[in-house]
Amino acid sequence: MSVNEIRWHPLLGTWVIVASGRATRPWRDATCPFCPGAPETGYGWDVISLDNRYPSLSTSPSVTSTPPSFSKLEPGYGRCKVVIETTEHEGDLDTIPFQNLVKYVDILGRETAELAEDPGIKYVAPFRNKGELIGVSIHHPHSQIYALPFIPLRIERELASMEGYYKDKGSCLVCDIVKEEELGERVIYRNRDFILILPYYAQWPHECHIYPRRHFQLLSQLTDGEKESLSETLLVAVSMYNSLFNFSLPYMMVTHQAPVKGHYPHYHLHIEFYTIHRYADKLKYAAGIEWGYWAFTYDELPENRVKELKEALKRAVNRLKERGYNLRGELIP
Ligand SMILES: [Zn+2]
Ligand SMILES: [Zn+2]
Ligand SMILES: [Zn+2]
Repeated sequence: MSVNEIRWHPLLGTWVIVASGRATRPWRDATCPFCPGAPETGYGWDVISLDNRYPSLSTSPSVTSTPPSFSKLEPGYGRCKVVIETTEHEGDLDTIPFQNLVKYVDILGRETAELAEDPGIKYVAPFRNKGELIGVSIHHPHSQIYALPFIPLRIERELASMEGYYKDKGSCLVCDIVKEEELGERVIYRNRDFILILPYYAQWPHECHIYPRRHFQLLSQLTDGEKESLSETLLVAVSMYNSLFNFSLPYMMVTHQAPVKGHYPHYHLHIEFYTIHRYADKLKYAAGIEWGYWAFTYDELPENRVKELKEALKRAVNRLKERGYNLRGELIP
């Protein structure tokens, strides 16, 4: 019998998800489970969301016996979903039709709203891992959504920072960052609703964040216009990354939104991209100092890496034009 439980890490004050059934999951299947016509996908779709066949969390979790007195144990209740962004087996968010991107963003919002209805879910975490170096087991373009029974530690930290800032200054931290950075050198691209920026405090080599101009908390609160603008911002970010070294760049893309239970008026939703290449042939490893202490070292001036990204984006825009896509937003020189 497989176990899905969360164990309390008493030193860090957070939960560890324990799922015993996943060790046997197939690694790089010969036939793609996400292509049209596969048992789970069928035909007649362009973007779909499915339940993950090998979930870390379950809606009927079994747990082991009593935890030791210094810890605690709860059922690993939750949902793990997969969003397949295209019927094409190869590619990335910059090769799929633009209407798929808009639909993808829409699905992330709908899933957030739907999963929020579940009394056992406290947090909805949509993320996208790309590239074998990031550990992706299926090449077919896809994202994942974890619906968690707890608020992840990193989000707790951001909630506290934004609330503390609000108490101190009477305004929103991210709104203030957008205002101050808007015309500065670290902004790469902007449109009516979003900016794409390499943050002053980047930890990964070409880490970029997407900040909405409007102050809101959840993907389910995106307006129709914002869904289009966000799709274009995602297209810009990913095509920029894929033009950086002239190979398809591995990355992690995570949406940081507010918890779905409770009231978090000071939180400002955003999307973060982490990349691991310092140069085309050199990686940034998260090792002792990063994992062991959560102290990141950045081996270049972030402002120099912004210049590389702006050059890459110019090349990307030319490629998008060749494919017939003209950006509505503006590149920042
Ligand atoms: Zn496929
Ligand atoms: Zn704000
Ligand atoms: Zn964040």
